Amino acid sequence: MLDDNTKGQLAGYFERITQPVELIASLDDSAGAADIRELLTEIAAIAPAKVSARFDGQFARKPSFQITRAGQDMGVHFAALPMGHEFTSLLLAILWAGGHPPKVEPEVIEQIKALDGEFSFTTWMSLTCHNCPDVVQALNLMAVLNPRVRHVAIDGGLFQQEVEARQIMAVPAVFLGEESFASGRMELAEILAKVDTGAAARDAAKLGAKDAFDVLIVGAGPAGAAAAIYAARKGIRTGIVAERFGGQTLDTLAIENFISVPETEGPKFAAALEQHVRAYEVDVMSGQRVSALEPAPTPGALASVRLDNGAVLKSRTVILATGARWRNVNVPGEQEYKTKGVAYCPHCDGPLFKGKKVAVIGGGNSGVEAAIDLAGVVEHVTLIEFLDQLKADAVLVSKLKSLPNVTIHTNAQTTEITGDGQKVNGLRYKDRASGAEHLIELAGVFVQIGLVPNTDFLKGGPVELSRFGEIVIDAKCHTNVPGVFGAGDVTTVPYKQIIIATGEGAKAALSAFDHLIRTPQVEAAPAATAASPALVG
Ligand code: FAD
Repeated sequence: MLDDNTKGQLAGYFERITQPVELIASLDDSAGAADIRELLTEIAAIAPAKVSARFDGQFARKPSFQITRAGQDMGVHFAALPMGHEFTSLLLAILWAGGHPPKVEPEVIEQIKALDGEFSFTTWMSLTCHNCPDVVQALNLMAVLNPRVRHVAIDGGLFQQEVEARQIMAVPAVFLGEESFASGRMELAEILAKVDTGAAARDAAKLGAKDAFDVLIVGAGPAGAAAAIYAARKGIRTGIVAERFGGQTLDTLAIENFISVPETEGPKFAAALEQHVRAYEVDVMSGQRVSALEPAPTPGALASVRLDNGAVLKSRTVILATGARWRNVNVPGEQEYKTKGVAYCPHCDGPLFKGKKVAVIGGGNSGVEAAIDLAGVVEHVTLIEFLDQLKADAVLVSKLKSLPNVTIHTNAQTTEITGDGQKVNGLRYKDRASGAEHLIELAGVFVQIGLVPNTDFLKGGPVELSRFGEIVIDAKCHTNVPGVFGAGDVTTVPYKQIIIATGEGAKAALSAFDHLIRTPQVEAAPAATAASPALVG
């Protein structure tokens, strides 16, 4: 199962284990169980003194296995053969159980250890889901650090009956006990914020007490990260506040057009962005949502950025880099059946519709790519495009048209996603030429109609937005408000791409610096860095 190269790498990693680890499996006579036995046996043979495997576990769900420190009962379980995207989750769980320290801030470790209560999590995932490992790893880490946290990661493909019974149609789907806890990608900070009820108030107090920044960046995608690095390299007091570090790149599978990096994966790229930012003196505040911006009342005074938890951050300049999110189709049924058949990530959720019929709404590049991908997994794909022709690149369109299990409807307006109360069972569309209504029976609908800028928190405020809701900027990333800059997908700059967003982020930081050196400060930033006094006009 593991090739020699992988075994060699694992042998290197296992040298970091300081306390023996046990892999305890509970197997049946299924093919999946045989694979798990083979994998665990091979892993244990790599470093027998450090990792052992036994097959006498008594777990209700078979096949499954536990990873635990010898002599303890750590709640890390896989009901899966954790290969593919989950292989790293397996390796990390073994290393953490073996005493290797996780790369997490000490206060987060303390927060996990101090969690009050019993938490029994289940994550439903698929091995092709690139959004699942973050969730699996976060919950595994919590289970390693706190004996009152239990976590089982289940491969939906291996437990189809349970998937059907629980009506799971999007992964990762996390349950706490029998209750649905979350679905979609989540970071450790978000999970902790949900289970640690006192955390928001503690965060607000800490954030509100911070000294003013010279540059505060809102958003930590490629644009925000580049802005932070450029600002910090000027020696000015820089902060970055964001919901998710990495932004859309976290939802991207392969990136092949970031010049000088021939190929990488989205989550890997996001991790590299964060590592690069943290190499500088930047105050990183992730897991925080911004709800309002109040620009400086007079030039040189401080702007205020309000967070959802009530804290207010102050800064002499603000760079808005809040990017974009999936656009909703806004028809009846979409909200009701989200994660119950309405999906946005074909790579993640495609395998759950194996052997079933699905539709893709949207005939641009992302819609056509999704339809091509899904056609290899599901029984049949219907592609619905509002315009009278597909807008995707010709090469993609001709590939799509060559597939035997794809039907294309152009000039078709989706009017409803139908369901049986539990899950999606169809899609209604209107032929825009004839006005005729049609109903297609299917199990899933993938919405791929582009992105919408994250500017809700700016609506009604002084920052000018275009009719599409984008922040209007000039060639130097200035908005109409002095001291407030925009960068990346959230702005009017055309061609929403990573390399463009990073360039715009750099430009916005240089413009912010230019503004700082030209604008006399009317209200001192109390804890300015050593370089900052030079900026005070
Ligand atoms: P984003 O990446 O959207 O980041 C926005 C940041 O703002 C995030 O940190 C977010 O959490 C934060 N944020 C938003 N609202 C708030 C708020 N209210 N408070 C606090 N924080 C907030 N581009 C390529 O070049 N190559 C590709 O192969 C590629 N593939 C893609 C595949 C997919 C599936 C998608 C969705 C996009 C892809 N793109 C690709 C586009 C690329 O990801 C974007 O152009 C790029 O990420 C934009 O960067 P950004 O920093 O402007 O915004």
